[in-house]
Amino acid sequence: MQFKDIVGQRDVINRLTETVDSGRVSHAQLLLGPASAGSLQMALAYLQYLCCDHRQHFPEGDLRADSCGVCPQCKKVASLMHPDLHFVFPNASTPRVSSSSYWSGDFASEFRDFVAERHALGSLDEWYAFLGIENKQGMIRELDAAHIVQDLSLKSYEGGWKMMLVWMPEKMNLAAANELLKTLEEPTPRTLIMMVGESDERLLPTIRSRVQTVRLRPVEPDRRAASAEFAALLVEWLRLLFKLKMRELSAEVDKLAALGRERQKQFLAYALDVVRDCFLNTTAGRPVTIGSGDDKFDASFPRMVTPNNVELIQKALDEALFAIERNANAKIAFMQLSFSMSKALKKR
Ligand SMILES: [Zn+2]
Repeated sequence: MQFKDIVGQRDVINRLTETVDSGRVSHAQLLLGPASAGSLQMALAYLQYLCCDHRQHFPEGDLRADSCGVCPQCKKVASLMHPDLHFVFPNASTPRVSSSSYWSGDFASEFRDFVAERHALGSLDEWYAFLGIENKQGMIRELDAAHIVQDLSLKSYEGGWKMMLVWMPEKMNLAAANELLKTLEEPTPRTLIMMVGESDERLLPTIRSRVQTVRLRPVEPDRRAASAEFAALLVEWLRLLFKLKMRELSAEVDKLAALGRERQKQFLAYALDVVRDCFLNTTAGRPVTIGSGDDKFDASFPRMVTPNNVELIQKALDEALFAIERNANAKIAFMQLSFSMSKALKKR
């Protein structure tokens, strides 16, 4: 994960890279924000930046620094396979892991798959569903905390930082929290506990006071503000869907395919947002602004998203997002999406 893949949050990113560059890395940090705002993405990009052998700097850009994304350190962090990067997260027994001595490490490969598939944006509920423990309360328990202490006390394999990422620390039970507190009170050099959660209300005050907290804003306003380009593209594309002239549509699909994978995902997420907005607001009788710069289109499109087709439209966009995330051929994915969208829009 690189910072450039994160939507918005540039001020937070620039502050984080600045602390690394100036050697002021705090040994216990807490990133707070909804999973959908990219809190885990931010933590992973930060750890990758911390480890990167060839950090990049862009004094002129809105993003002032980033990891290189290609050095061995970057690749190990990106695949969640860095030997000095450990993970702890809420877990519960499953049919596969049913002894009483299970801990996060028993679910490491599931966690890696989950992060990769959801692009590190998955929520806690989605994680439980992924693990097949929807009906249980996941927790971070004493055994997890004992592993945190133990993993951080080992010698670093790669000679750099020893890192522990604790996802959703608010799910720690009291015994685990007290165990973790001991580590926070006596940090060893070059160790970092990076906690990533949604709320610090359930954290012990003694833990809260020992971590450096960074809060992320919800991503919606940012995404909308940064999306004039996406609005124009979306409107252009939607118009062609009504005409269905193959030559023009194919040129438009080429344009979308040229965006690059991260931007394609952002574009599809943006389109999902717009569709949701259109549906919620028109059913409630409120006006919607797409911001296409074309009043006639802005007024007519929202009415085309109806209870009869909204699910079909969302499904089509979701499937395209899923295909893009799995590195499917972008042209084919967008062409397929165009056909199913066009069909869905006619179903109103
Ligand atoms: Zn690198």
